[in-house]
Amino acid sequence: MNESAPLSGLAKVLDEVRATQSKNAKVERLSAYLRNLSADDAALAARLATGRSSPRGSRDETQVGYSTIWQLLTEISGTPAKAISELYLRYGDLGEVAQEALKSKRETTLFGESITIAELQKTFDTMARSKGKGSSSSRRALLKSLLLRSSPPEAKYVVKILTGEMRTGLVQGLVEEAIAKAYAIPKEEVARAHLLAGDIGLLAYGARLGELSKVTMTPFRPLNFMLAEPMASPTEVADYFKKPIFAEYKYDGVRAQLHKLGGKVRIFSRRLEDVSESFPEVSRAAASIENDFILDGEIVPFRDGKPLPFQLLQRRLRRIENFEEAARNAPVEYFVFDILLLGAEELFDRPLRQRSIALAAAIRGSGLLPAERITVASGEEIARAFATSRALGYEGLVLKDPESAYAMGKRGKSWVKLKEELDTIDAVIVAAEYGHGKRAGVISDYTFAVRGRDGLKTIGKAYSGLTDSEIGSMTERIKKLTIKDYGYRRSVKPEIVLEVAFDSIQESDRHDSGYALRFPRIKRIRDDKTVREIDTLEKVVSIFNSQKVKLAER
Ligand code: ATP
Repeated sequence: MNESAPLSGLAKVLDEVRATQSKNAKVERLSAYLRNLSADDAALAARLATGRSSPRGSRDETQVGYSTIWQLLTEISGTPAKAISELYLRYGDLGEVAQEALKSKRETTLFGESITIAELQKTFDTMARSKGKGSSSSRRALLKSLLLRSSPPEAKYVVKILTGEMRTGLVQGLVEEAIAKAYAIPKEEVARAHLLAGDIGLLAYGARLGELSKVTMTPFRPLNFMLAEPMASPTEVADYFKKPIFAEYKYDGVRAQLHKLGGKVRIFSRRLEDVSESFPEVSRAAASIENDFILDGEIVPFRDGKPLPFQLLQRRLRRIENFEEAARNAPVEYFVFDILLLGAEELFDRPLRQRSIALAAAIRGSGLLPAERITVASGEEIARAFATSRALGYEGLVLKDPESAYAMGKRGKSWVKLKEELDTIDAVIVAAEYGHGKRAGVISDYTFAVRGRDGLKTIGKAYSGLTDSEIGSMTERIKKLTIKDYGYRRSVKPEIVLEVAFDSIQESDRHDSGYALRFPRIKRIRDDKTVREIDTLEKVVSIFNSQKVKLAER
């Protein structure tokens, strides 16, 4: 077996990397180092250099806290605790403290042999795996013997890796670049393999062997989540896409990547932490599916077809209650909106349209639910879907390009999110009309007005946002309040107050206020308000003016 490289070499390189501000120089230095390592060492070095003692998604944590390290430094160096505190105040970094303190190492070991990076990793692994009674003292003993054998710079990096505070400026992107450079592989190829591998160590390993093309997406290696770009209004979304797109509810829960391999299932959070133990019923449902897979979706507290407050999930995530209690207090559903891998087939770069078909087939009958989705093509349709989403208790919409690939770790415009409404206006119904199509027999279109200086001024007409039964009772009320019936249209005594959401305000000569709400939708009937309490034309004008400021800022 080849001897692994010494930790002293890695420490020296990391010191040099830290000493320079230049990104190029950092990349250059690290790549020169990686180039001469074996594949096994390259994997370890790349991971350790980013401050990780285990692959991403691994459950192995070294579980050594600040106070243990602090005590050991005092003990080994013979430096009084007070002096250690002073060093910490000076450096603000426990790694630096370790280096300084160990310069006056009191205890020494008999073996002067240098520590290799493989040995360091093995010690970290043993620490992570030691569980249960007596485990904290055995972790402490392992760390003690490691620090006793370390030179001051080595001790510094041992501590830095344990605390995850590298401060070398080596962000993942630069390590990726260094790997590309070390083994003369095009950057794009390295970047793609990194997305699939989900771990910098595996990436370095594959690159060193010249086998990046063999890197595949594999369950239990969490992947970066695709993110959404916020947009301000349905019009902005429609103007951007200019084609039919998918609109899904924006569920308010926790983002979850569900991995299945053989009979086992694991759930990763947005921070790529393993949260499987918080949601055993989701894992159970997933385990009933035959194929292996990687899914993306949202775990939502949910009962009787309705979302519950998001806060209920916090207790489950922290596992405050036992599972039975948790499931009773905060039952959940996993709404799945994407599939990245099915069996051995990587689906992430297929168009969403195709992925959705595969997804529906994969989860059918499992108890996992597909996210609800409709196709929308205009600002008005988006506004209506938004109103429905809000009325059902969801946060808004996520709108997706059906032709887009799943872009791991990217916040792009293939997914956009719509959250809050611009504002709402309380207005009173002054006229109404019968609807069309399935609303032909009911009065479903309402013209509403705000208060101007000399009386009520109309500002819009809304025909969405109410349920069928609300429209039914509204029809009866309006008939009784009718002042004059013009056949299909009637003027109405101003009594019924509506809270109206909208997309934006425009100047308009269609209404006597001189303004029109764009894409108005009824948020609720405000029977708790009288016509005296409706909003004024002044408020409308002030919203109109503030929008102009916002547009100008953009
Ligand atoms: P936010 O605070 O708005 O949830 P975020 O920064 O956590 O934003 P973004 O990607 O910007 O994440 O917004 C989309 C988020 O909405 C996702 O992270 C996900 O948790 C959630 N979400 C809910 N429903 C969906 C859906 N149907 N498709 C995609 N994401 C959804």
